[in-house]
Amino acid sequence: MKFISTRGKSNVSCAACAIAKGLADDGGLFVPEFFPSVTTDQILQMVSMNYAERAAFVLHKYLEEYDYEQLLDACKNAYSKFEESEAAPLVKIDDKFFIMELFHGPTLAFKDVALTLLPYLLRKGCDISGVKEEVLILVATSGDTGKAALEGFKDANGIKVMVFYPSEGVSDMQKLQMCTQEGNNVNVVAVKGNFDDCQTSVKKIFTSKEINAQLKEKGVILSSANSMNFGRLAPQITYYFSAYCDLIDSGEIKVGDKVDYVVPTGNFGNILAGYYAKKMGLPIGKLICASNANNVLTEFFASGTYDANREFFKTISPSMDILISSNLERLVFEISGRNANLTEERMNKLKGLGIYSVSDDEKNSLKKEFFADFADENECSDVIKDIFDEYGYIADPHTAVAIKVKETYSNYESKDNNIVVLSTASPYKFACDVFKIISGKNLKDAFKAADSLFEYTAMPIPDQILELKNKEKRFTEVINKNDTVKSVFDFLSK
Ligand SMILES: *Cc1c(COP(=O)(O)O)cnc(C)c1O
Repeated sequence: MKFISTRGKSNVSCAACAIAKGLADDGGLFVPEFFPSVTTDQILQMVSMNYAERAAFVLHKYLEEYDYEQLLDACKNAYSKFEESEAAPLVKIDDKFFIMELFHGPTLAFKDVALTLLPYLLRKGCDISGVKEEVLILVATSGDTGKAALEGFKDANGIKVMVFYPSEGVSDMQKLQMCTQEGNNVNVVAVKGNFDDCQTSVKKIFTSKEINAQLKEKGVILSSANSMNFGRLAPQITYYFSAYCDLIDSGEIKVGDKVDYVVPTGNFGNILAGYYAKKMGLPIGKLICASNANNVLTEFFASGTYDANREFFKTISPSMDILISSNLERLVFEISGRNANLTEERMNKLKGLGIYSVSDDEKNSLKKEFFADFADENECSDVIKDIFDEYGYIADPHTAVAIKVKETYSNYESKDNNIVVLSTASPYKFACDVFKIISGKNLKDAFKAADSLFEYTAMPIPDQILELKNKEKRFTEVINKNDTVKSVFDFLSK
């Protein structure tokens, strides 16, 4: 299948090429030339499959040039790294209300679902598309992608990983997870600034002809593990199907019934995968876009204007503290009727002025597919406490934002559909905040908070958290945002 750029000037002939390149040369994002379809019969076939089989089935629709058996093996290997090999278990909370827990992987965040598989997709993608150079993965992270990429790619052959995170923009546990990363091919650097500063610097490196030429001389090409890379996006499509199949399996729905999904959203990668699943034929009712106080997306869906010129809030759901949601470009491309010129024009406006608008028709077509709202910090805290008191369920702050928006949605729209809330992180990654909200007690030390949260809730502490205590801090460098390029070359010459 051909992959085309949202900006129309650099198409490639296959998914493998799109994954190997990461970002299109014209600065756009790769999208499939068309959405492959999944039939009702195929959905029924998937009901009896395990998660790895479901993943291989969905992925192969796009990744035609990957060998099916090999892809299946890679999925089995990736998802064996999750607790009980379950990448997306569904928990029933109440009538028609489910939580899909995507955080049982190696780094306790939903990004593991894609990043445990991406090393295979990328290495194979390079082989298939004839890339001989060493690959350098550059990652800008608001916390979770960084760690998941480091863990996924550590000691991978012919691949190096470099992660930039905002020095004051991630939780203590997230910082510790990254600073203690093992592996001989990795580097982690803190940048003075916020996530958008990190993302903008990294994007600049990707699109600079000069830097890319210098790298090529050293035998290095760049690729990305951010959700701008189709290889990151594709594995996320699976769990929308998987939850649907589980609901059929447990007799909650019949095939064809519509299901709504609520997604705690930052860069728009997770929810976009849901949109792709719908385009492939999964009976999704509404996709519900939940934001925190950085509610630029809520406003976009309401008004049709994306305006990043606003105050940036640091919240307790840091992975959603984003003003420029990169993957929205893929959605804007679709709703424009795949008009690459218009998409490019809008993205140039975003880059230059921080603002662009879609037409009223486009806005109305979005309203048919999406519902969007946000939860502020108080609402997020209230939900964490309420959902624990009422159901004994412990939600991390990102998931709590989604649960709050689910409640708002249920008050406005029809309650006929089953609703699945995507849970994106383990509460133990945010132990200080979660414990304080549930118990009213303020503990500064993240490990003490984790112990206390366990005593309070009896939810087991994941080994990945316990192990962090004794690990050496290998990466402590903090740089200015203008020094990212230098720091890349320093790392390569080590
Ligand atoms: C990355 C992340 C999100 C946001 O996902 P996007 O794909 O960027 O929209 C939400 N919650 C958690 C815990 C995350 O790590």
